[in-house]
Amino acid sequence: MYLIAKKKKGKAHYWTGTDTVCRLASTGGLDASRYFVSEAKHESRAVCHMCRQVSLGGKVLPTSEQYRTI
Ligand SMILES: [Zn+2]
Repeated sequence: MYLIAKKKKGKAHYWTGTDTVCRLASTGGLDASRYFVSEAKHESRAVCHMCRQVSLGGKVLPTSEQYRTI
C-alpha cells in the first residue's frame, strides 16, 4: 500500500498497513495528516526516493505491485 500526499503532485511513500518504511518518518519529516492511504499508487505520483532505497535494500515490500514500480 501507499501513503500518498494530499496535495497535487506530492510524493507517494510505501505503507505496510501499520507503518511507513520511509526514513523521513523516523526523522519527523513526514506529517501523517498530510497523507492518505491507498491500495494503488496513483499514476501521476512518483515514489519517494528514500522509500525506494529502503525497498531496494530488501526490507519491506508488501506487494508484488511495488516490485514493478522500481
Ligand atoms: Zn518516503
